[in-house]
Amino acid sequence: MKSTKLSNVNYDIRGPVLEKARQMEDEGHKIIKLNIGNVAAFGLLPPDEIVQDMIRNLPSAEAAGYTDSKGLFSARRAVVHYTQQQGVAGVTVDDVYLGNGVSELITLAVNVLLNEGDELLVPSPDYPLYTAVTGLAGGKPVHYRCVEEQGWLPDLADMRAKVTPATRGIAVINPNNPTGALYPRETLLGILDIAREHGLVVLADEIYDKTLFDAAQHIPMASLAEDVLILTFNGLSKNYRSCGFRSGWMVVSGAKKDARDFIEGLNMLSSLRLCANTPGQLAIQTALGGYQSIKDLVAPGGRLARQRDRAYELLTAIPGVTVVKPMGALYMFPRLDPELYPIADDQQFAYELLAEEKVLIVQGTGFNHGDSQHFRLVFLPHVDDLEEAIARIARFLAGYRKR
Ligand code: PLP
Repeated sequence: MKSTKLSNVNYDIRGPVLEKARQMEDEGHKIIKLNIGNVAAFGLLPPDEIVQDMIRNLPSAEAAGYTDSKGLFSARRAVVHYTQQQGVAGVTVDDVYLGNGVSELITLAVNVLLNEGDELLVPSPDYPLYTAVTGLAGGKPVHYRCVEEQGWLPDLADMRAKVTPATRGIAVINPNNPTGALYPRETLLGILDIAREHGLVVLADEIYDKTLFDAAQHIPMASLAEDVLILTFNGLSKNYRSCGFRSGWMVVSGAKKDARDFIEGLNMLSSLRLCANTPGQLAIQTALGGYQSIKDLVAPGGRLARQRDRAYELLTAIPGVTVVKPMGALYMFPRLDPELYPIADDQQFAYELLAEEKVLIVQGTGFNHGDSQHFRLVFLPHVDDLEEAIARIARFLAGYRKR
């Protein structure tokens, strides 16, 4: 019954291993879940100022009604201010689209961009939504390499070599999920050069732009070029710990004049879904005008910073496990030395870890990574739980070596 369009669509973060975990929970097992960046599930709740405003707004006619398809003026205005503070030139309220999380807006933009057979350059490893929606839109995801030995930075030569006449855009996730890499200016400028040379649209996913460790600085892609069409994605899910409120935005900047047709397409698809949920839209102005972002949690000594440090310390103490220390976001993407742990099928590896130690991770190939020697974990649990989870991973790996 299912359409053939779905044959290449995968989203392993919520895939069969999670199904197995649910089944085990139904049978009464307690699973330590390191699989999903669902911030609230780990007690990291939305800022009070957002929650109180939501409670106040909910009974109102405004919150219950549809809005303009692009979203509420006041919320889009707040996003314009945010982009101005980031040093992005020439953005008006008209360039801002609100969505039910950025997931909806990424799906929308990729559908507007791609014809049948068109290509989108997507990182490997990636946040798998990009690969999935490209396939769903009839396009072809082409993966450019991110290099572990270089802190998971994109290989610009590889990216350039993969541009073909069918390429339409480049997806850039910075700070990165699943690797935690934060890209320096030269990398961003290099990507923009490739986009400029070939007339490509840049999809800049910056949803973790405030989730930064060690006082690192994030450079917004759109602040670096006015002559390339850039779609920047951001929202409340991570920086404001509000992923259940489904509230995100897309900002169109740069070479807008040459993109009238494309922008008409964005407007059209935005109107098809009527509008984003209004309570979520109403939270944007409060969030961006407030001070309760994730910043205190990621600052040195903050809860997330301590969890990142401890997880890194414990994982790298396991023989044959190496990790690039994340500079941003909520994830690590450890590598298992193939000499010690030759993994033929990493989904099977994830199943076995789950069955034996009741720890849920996501296998690296779920992120369209080429080898099966990686997995992703979130470092959202409290330090005690992380210690327990990583001790179980270490025990499982010790057994794996002896096979
Ligand atoms: N982009 C990246 C890189 C993500 O990691 C996520 C969620 O984990 C999303 C987009 C989806 O965000 P939203 O909740 O706004 O749909």
